[in-house]
Amino acid sequence: MYRTNDCNSLRKIDIGKQVMLAGWVHVTRDHGGVIFIDLRDREGLTQAVFRPEENAELAKEAHSLRSEDVIEVSGRVAARLPGTENANLATGDIEIIPSRLRILNRADTLPFPIDAEPQNEDLRITHRYFDLRRPRLARNLRVRHRVTKATRDYLDGQGYIEVETPVLSKSTPEGARDFLVPSRIMPGKFYALPQAPQQYKQLLMVAGVEKYFQIAKCFRDEDLRADRQPEFTQIDIEASFVTPDDIFSVTEGMLAAIFKVARNIEIKTPFDRLTYREAVGRFGSDKPDRRFGMELVDLSDDFRASGFKVFRSAIDAGGVVKAINSKGFAGITIGQADELTEIAKLYGAKGLAFIKIENGEWKSPVVKFFSDAEKAALQSKLRIEEGDCVFFGADKWEIAGEVLGRIRLRVAEIQNLIGPANRHSGSEQSGLDWDFLWVTDFPLFQWSPEENKWNAMHHPFTRPKTEDMPLFDDKKFSEIRAEAYDVVLNGVEIGGGSIRIYEPELQEKMFEALGIRPEDRQSQFGHLLRALRLGAPPHGGIALGLDRLVMLICGEESIRDVMAFPKNNRGLDLMTQSPADVDPRQLRDLSLKLAEKK
Ligand code: ASP
Repeated sequence: MYRTNDCNSLRKIDIGKQVMLAGWVHVTRDHGGVIFIDLRDREGLTQAVFRPEENAELAKEAHSLRSEDVIEVSGRVAARLPGTENANLATGDIEIIPSRLRILNRADTLPFPIDAEPQNEDLRITHRYFDLRRPRLARNLRVRHRVTKATRDYLDGQGYIEVETPVLSKSTPEGARDFLVPSRIMPGKFYALPQAPQQYKQLLMVAGVEKYFQIAKCFRDEDLRADRQPEFTQIDIEASFVTPDDIFSVTEGMLAAIFKVARNIEIKTPFDRLTYREAVGRFGSDKPDRRFGMELVDLSDDFRASGFKVFRSAIDAGGVVKAINSKGFAGITIGQADELTEIAKLYGAKGLAFIKIENGEWKSPVVKFFSDAEKAALQSKLRIEEGDCVFFGADKWEIAGEVLGRIRLRVAEIQNLIGPANRHSGSEQSGLDWDFLWVTDFPLFQWSPEENKWNAMHHPFTRPKTEDMPLFDDKKFSEIRAEAYDVVLNGVEIGGGSIRIYEPELQEKMFEALGIRPEDRQSQFGHLLRALRLGAPPHGGIALGLDRLVMLICGEESIRDVMAFPKNNRGLDLMTQSPADVDPRQLRDLSLKLAEKK
């Protein structure tokens, strides 16, 4: 036996008891020969005090202890001396007077002090087993456990069953590059790691499972961005005989259960719904952050005959003129204006026009081109007041929206309306700052200028809206809406899904629209097309990004902080040093030869 209690369990009523504790030496303090040890396990801290006058030999041994040594301490629970209690510690009224000390293991020089937050994340990831001892990360692992448990419990209660699908699978078009695994038995052939269990879950519907879920590992070989990992986890759901409303309600119920269990937060259901057109129209984003205003206002009607060429020509070309009013932002600095202009250009604008309202004056080089009627329209539609700053977008609907949407978010960050300072939103009880919403009616297709073809906006198995089916026959691809939806939390897309195509003819039509040749359809999707011919029920589903969800629940800024063993931002596992070289024999077994290094 190593212990009778954990390090967070002893209180005043335990005074006088003989106990055994085990854990890590968190800190040691030497006060004139008296050694104070904060002993730590995953539950908390308990102080042990070695006094030479009580046991000189033990005190001497305790003197040799260093941070992170692993020890076992037996002794008596005693009251701390009056005035030395620690109200900030659950065990702060008591201490252990040891009668025995066993050093179970010594710790070498530490990679970094455990009670500091090292700035160098690579260092943390390299020594992740050590990093994970820090309370913040230890808490995140536990929250993650509670989230997955709440998910399983809730879905089980709704009749969903968890089914594992293969990790060695076949290349599927989810929009990213596949990780490939060479086959030894079939030289020259490859498995692909799943980007998502999409086809498997649909095949499970054909199999009559009716309600499936899985906490599923997914793999995408993408260029890494701040918030991406090559492998990540989805809460993957699929059900038969469902409409979007059914998927919305199971997802809402599940999220409510997760927030309740993980953080005792009551979230408000049902969630609001916005169509894609509304979301992009009003917020310039298909994942709107509605925790602040600054909505996009359409001014196209007011500037249709404008003397300001930039606006006029955008409208003449079929585009729009839109604006946002950033309250209290008239003090915008030159640096901020430059940064925002760069953002506007990055998202396709030629520049960024804006007006500052200072000392009752509209300050901007563009104001002189506006007529009185145009100014009056601006004034009333944007409710312009002293101290405001108005930004314009004049372009195609998509571009003007995206540009202003990005400006809106950046200004909100600069003004501290969102961002790190407000991450820990959602005061425990109110649930007010957790803004969930559904975005629906996404376009079915997206034009790819690089490939000169239509791509599926969600994936090729997504169903067109029934009302828009005639547009399919007329090949008006840009206008077809999909039975697809995303669930958004505080401006972050936490999940997405769709109702699927279950008729083989429609699926073929979809492949055709995507430019997939008949022979490729058979080799890539033959299994699915055959399954759809064997009595496939209507079905649909959703997948939620578990890592992002847990990140938001924990108030973290990076999904890496809610993963036990993440890769760094270049996709490297610094702890195990992977990816790594392999033995030439392994390559020979796989019939692989490496190209000469350039
Ligand atoms: N498989 C999809 C994805 O990973 C989600 C879904 O349609 O259910 O985005």
